[in-house]
Amino acid sequence: MQLALIAHDDKKSAMMEWAEEHETLLHEQTLIATGTTGGRLIEEVGLEVTRMASGPLGGDLMIGAAVVTGECDAVVFFRDPMTAQPHEPDISALLRICDVHGIPLATNRASATALLAGLTASESR
Ligand code: PGA
Repeated sequence: MQLALIAHDDKKSAMMEWAEEHETLLHEQTLIATGTTGGRLIEEVGLEVTRMASGPLGGDLMIGAAVVTGECDAVVFFRDPMTAQPHEPDISALLRICDVHGIPLATNRASATALLAGLTASESR
């Protein structure tokens, strides 16, 4: 399974905590991430991650492209609901394309945990 990980700046620490908590399961997945999020996952959590461009430079769109080509099976996107992001249209495009292709997308810790559990369960079936 290929899982994409993205976190806005105010949510990056929450994502690192979540990733540490679920490190064992995450190690079993092929991971891609936007640039800065990916860098922190590698450095701080020790995960193997293919880094796309940073979000503001189009990393969200690169993940969207992976959804379109069928490479990406699921997306975990810790969004900051309080701050408008300069690349908001790209974010909306990513959310939309996940819905177009029926790709699950989790936007907070609780839904991300449920998503990861679901992915792992469907793998062992
Ligand atoms: P980043 O991108 O991981 O490169 O910061 C995330 C985003 O802001 O969409």
